[in-house]
Amino acid sequence: MTQDELFKVLVAHCKEYGFIFPSSEIYDGLAAVYDYGQMGVELKNNIKQYWWNAMTRLNENIVGIDSCIFMHPRIWEASGHVGAFNDPLIDNKDSKKRYRADVLIEDYLGKIEEKMNKEVEKGRKKFGEAFDEAKFRETNPNVLREKARYDEVHSRYVKAEQNNDFAEYRQIIMDCGIVCPISGTCNWTDVRQFNLMFSTSMGSTADGANTIYLRPETAQGIFVNYLNVQKTGRMKLPFGIAQIGKAFRNEIVARQFIFRMREFEQMEMQFFIKPGTELDWFKVWKEKRMQWHVNLGMGALNYRFHDHEKLAHYANAATDIEFNFPFGFKELEGVHSRTDFDLGNHQKFSGKKIQYYDPETGESYTPYVIETSIGVDRMVLAVLSHSLKEEKLDNGETRTVLSIPAPLAPVKAAVLPLVKKDGLPEFAQKVMDELKYDFNCQYEEKDSIGKRYRRQDAIGTPFCITVDHDSLVDGSVTVRDRDTMAQERVPVTELRKLIDERVNMNNLLRKL
Ligand code: ATP
Repeated sequence: MTQDELFKVLVAHCKEYGFIFPSSEIYDGLAAVYDYGQMGVELKNNIKQYWWNAMTRLNENIVGIDSCIFMHPRIWEASGHVGAFNDPLIDNKDSKKRYRADVLIEDYLGKIEEKMNKEVEKGRKKFGEAFDEAKFRETNPNVLREKARYDEVHSRYVKAEQNNDFAEYRQIIMDCGIVCPISGTCNWTDVRQFNLMFSTSMGSTADGANTIYLRPETAQGIFVNYLNVQKTGRMKLPFGIAQIGKAFRNEIVARQFIFRMREFEQMEMQFFIKPGTELDWFKVWKEKRMQWHVNLGMGALNYRFHDHEKLAHYANAATDIEFNFPFGFKELEGVHSRTDFDLGNHQKFSGKKIQYYDPETGESYTPYVIETSIGVDRMVLAVLSHSLKEEKLDNGETRTVLSIPAPLAPVKAAVLPLVKKDGLPEFAQKVMDELKYDFNCQYEEKDSIGKRYRRQDAIGTPFCITVDHDSLVDGSVTVRDRDTMAQERVPVTELRKLIDERVNMNNLLRKL
């Protein structure tokens, strides 16, 4: 399957099995807005729990808050979002489709990278054991030609980005012959700025309604509560504030399913530190966040850092943690060293002193900040796209399985009476009663056992528990493992322990 096809299969699977639905579907949907169904919400909640507990329980100096979506409009002036939260947009005059100029160029660069990687893979196949990748990249003429093209476009792009030079963006698009995927033409408009914040008004018009914004990030809710939390929690630097919540961005091009939505959810943590220590803490959080990802067991090679070449004027270090999505390596999380930009600006705009009195040195200063920021929905997409597999079985059949890391699985165990009679449903209900307080379980008695196994595989349930006639006699059940499909006989009294070992989130947290 090509990556495109795989992605289509994933979207269809998410809908068919109750993970993700297009929003307002009976009205033909709303672009780039999605709803989570009965399975999706469980997966999402488990991801949030893994993050929340890793932040607030494993770090004694990190606490959580829940701030509002609506905030004072001056906040977005102080944060720079009113003035500078813009994307460069460009339209194709023939298809009338709108694109982000930077994304068009980045996709083009990505394709060159893909070509180089393909050449390398060809070389690897040809030379086998003796293959020296570094040397191949330095000497192979095809790779060198692509590399020269990449470097030239890339350096023009970085310069244009640094200078906010929109005419140059357009020129790069023209020079590279980047066409609209719909019309196939190069008939582009100029590049223009577009602010991504949604606005609405608060209060009645007679009262003089105020324009307010739907927050485009959760971080500012943390900054404006810095003093409240520091004082009431008697927090000493370094300390962090974590928050999970909705954010809204009027994305120009919302593509790739839940990767880029107009309403999404973020998990952000701002870590307040003494100025001068930020690069050390940046390193610490970079590693800690990577470890949180790799700990899920989805393959260390599926993640990589992408250090920013262009730093925002207030940042002195920034990196993305990229994940290998079906459409290539793309940002999953950002780790940023934001200096005292946000607290400093809120101090200026609000006129309130936002400082920390350091009892050790007797000085007062505005803390610096390291931010970790991850999209819940992108994380859901990472887990689902990595987990969905079509497997060929020994008997020639195929099965679709979602091998979601067990602690994140929406349903942990399915309880299945072999037949709908002879007291098996009643026994199975007793098993449910035994397990339901600890795990999200599903009871299913319809269809053949094989069909029920397949359904549970497709939603990623780690254990299927089958109750048969012998169960009534020996008090044991058959437990089937999602990944190996191996079956074993287990006394009902031991079920809780067996399931817990595999699905308990604390085991995952202990490995961090
Ligand atoms: P991108 O470059 O992909 O637009 P960004 O750099 O603007 O992302 P940040 O502002 O750093 O993203 O936001 C932090 C995280 O929030 C991102 O790493 C991503 O996981 C998530 N995120 C940002 N925008 C969206 C969106 N429109 N839909 C879903 N998740 C998003």
